[in-house]
Amino acid sequence: MHVVAAVVADRLTSRPFDAAIIAVGSELLTPEKVDTNSLFVTEVLNDLGIAVAFKAIVGDHRAELTSHVAHALQRHRVLILTGGLGPTDDDLTREVVAGHLGLALREDPAIVEAMERRFASRGWKMPAVNRRQAMVPDGAVALANPHGTAPGLWIEHDGAVIALLPGPPREMKPMMEGDVRPRLAGLVGAQRLFRRLVRVSGKGESLVEEIVQPIYSRWLTAMPPIETTILAGLGQVELHLVLQSSDAPGAAVQLGRAVAELAEALGRDVVSTDGSGLEAVAGQLLRARGWRVALAESCTGGLATSRLTDVPGSSDYVERSVVAYSNQAKVELLGVPAALIEAHGAVSEPVAAAMAQGIRDRSGVDVGIGITGIAGPGGGSADKPVGTVCIAVAGAVTTVRTFRFPGGREMVKAMSANWAIDLLRRSLLED
Ligand code: ATP
Ligand code: MG
Repeated sequence: MHVVAAVVADRLTSRPFDAAIIAVGSELLTPEKVDTNSLFVTEVLNDLGIAVAFKAIVGDHRAELTSHVAHALQRHRVLILTGGLGPTDDDLTREVVAGHLGLALREDPAIVEAMERRFASRGWKMPAVNRRQAMVPDGAVALANPHGTAPGLWIEHDGAVIALLPGPPREMKPMMEGDVRPRLAGLVGAQRLFRRLVRVSGKGESLVEEIVQPIYSRWLTAMPPIETTILAGLGQVELHLVLQSSDAPGAAVQLGRAVAELAEALGRDVVSTDGSGLEAVAGQLLRARGWRVALAESCTGGLATSRLTDVPGSSDYVERSVVAYSNQAKVELLGVPAALIEAHGAVSEPVAAAMAQGIRDRSGVDVGIGITGIAGPGGGSADKPVGTVCIAVAGAVTTVRTFRFPGGREMVKAMSANWAIDLLRRSLLED
């Protein structure tokens, strides 16, 4: 008998202290209305060190809502529901949750009185339907709603906590902050979420995944486990590491080791492990050497320079930039020999190199960058299709690379700018 009790207790406490959110309301399933409540709820939960494992948007539909509540409570210790606490027949949240937990609903006279006062203060009589909102499940705590009629509900049941909050954001937010946050804080104690971000450049998402998956899959079984998420953007991949712990120094050590393992496996492809963006990292490397850079951009139209100068203080190391779009501009402003363009075409490695060297010589900086390519949709040919871009970095030595970027004009420009800055970063690391 003791064994059975122990097994049951273990099943409950072994559920992770993470959360599920259910936004209730058929209007949230139309193209007109977006669920924003769950974002606010997530922010507060994360701030308390509670990760959100699952969220759902469910219409005002009894069976659908019941099955989602059941699923959430089977797997998670915290469930926050918003919406569906109104007085009308389609507002089901209170009944469905009480029904699922097997809790009887009783009218709370204090709530009826408060609602009657609220209506009376506006010179109205409370409609009978509003009494539904005064129904409280056995053992639940009603949360006062100074901004509307529907009170919220806080239920602790079978090792789980469940909060029912009104749908309107101006009613939900103060209740989440003022009532739910302190109650949850009391339950989680010092537990927090600790995060690290590893930025990677120069490899596609699937290749990064192939390299890091054997590493991070081991962390999932560590105590406490580290969860890793891979996000891919234009030419960059982000690895997000999250760990839930009440031991801040321990978490820092564990995450530090994990980040070091990733950095080791990915080598030069790691842009930063402290959240810094690519342009900031390239800037720091220039500043550390006391070097300045100048750019000659064609197909990117100044985008690479724009990104470098997004960083405050970049005037310390960005000397100038020229947008040399036409052949004539490449000749006049950068000193690219017309014969070179004639011989190889404007989009070619020799011309990219001549652009980088030209801007470097003319501005007297340490590093020059040249970018020339075909952003499309027109202008491609069989041997130089749309997306062909040549990028050169000229320092003490000149490196040139040719890329074939996928996607439309905007994507080709963004990828080119990203790679130009990344090649700058890599050349500074070589040095
Ligand atoms: P009441 O009916 O008493 O206002 P309720 O709890 O029944 O409260 P709903 O009827 O579900 O709330 O929602 C009222 C309004 O609140 C919706 O029309 C919508 O504008 C807004 N709302 C509801 N849920 C969300 C959500 N998840 N995100 C953003 N807005 C929401
Ligand atoms: Mg509703």
